[in-house]
Amino acid sequence: MPELPEVESVGRALAADLTGRRLTGLRVRWGGVFEPSPGAVRAALLGRTLTGLHRHGKYLILRFEGEGNGDAAFLMVHLRMTGQFLAQEDYRPDSHVHVTFDFDGRAVHYRDVRKFGRLSLVEHGTHPQALAHVGPDMLTVRTADWLGRVRRRGAPFKSVLLDQGVAAGLGNIYADESLFLARVHPLARPRDLDETELREVLRRAKQVLRLAINHGGTTFLDFRNFHGQPGNFRRKLRVYGRGGEPCRDCGAAIERMVIGGRSSCWCPRCQPAPR
Ligand SMILES: [Zn+2]
Repeated sequence: MPELPEVESVGRALAADLTGRRLTGLRVRWGGVFEPSPGAVRAALLGRTLTGLHRHGKYLILRFEGEGNGDAAFLMVHLRMTGQFLAQEDYRPDSHVHVTFDFDGRAVHYRDVRKFGRLSLVEHGTHPQALAHVGPDMLTVRTADWLGRVRRRGAPFKSVLLDQGVAAGLGNIYADESLFLARVHPLARPRDLDETELREVLRRAKQVLRLAINHGGTTFLDFRNFHGQPGNFRRKLRVYGRGGEPCRDCGAAIERMVIGGRSSCWCPRCQPAPR
């Protein structure tokens, strides 16, 4: 499932390849991917030029502008489980490609095996109503804001990090990695920790997100970046997906349990059980 670094990588690739290009065609094979409807998306975007792109958490918002008058339309992308964009010149769309965008002759395919991803028209390029329930972006949230949002929470820290209403962008992989680097147990409750520990979790989360972005994200399951290459952050992972393997820092066997329905990995020595 793409998290903030993977979505950032997709956004950078889309922006680099398509900014300044006009959307000249839209081939729809399964219209369910579009909100509110393929017809509405076609009417809003066809003939307009991609002029910018904004990421918030795991969402991308593409900005399209018309000739001269400058009025803009916005398409918000949420890849969810298996959404991906593919743009290799020799790519032959399979049955999981639901939409092909034509940007001045350049074909970009939206593929989604599980079909949970959505491409939605929204009314604003950075703060649409559809994201009103989503917290600030994890990479840019100010420390005081984040402390205010987490310090009284009584849920396991792992669940608080996954709660997109608190802050947006972390998923299972980077939540586990952030807690390991901060030396905080995934079952520890934010309200039981002191401010130094809370600050450390945020600092480490931002650190691991930046590092993953620099490596193009993590290779896993169905994530492929824009050009079909997997990211290469996987070999940097310290605990995620490493249950039973030795901790790279202390050698203890990495433990695994399910917290809030999500598989969680941690080191029993580096991340001591909550007080
Ligand atoms: Zn360890």
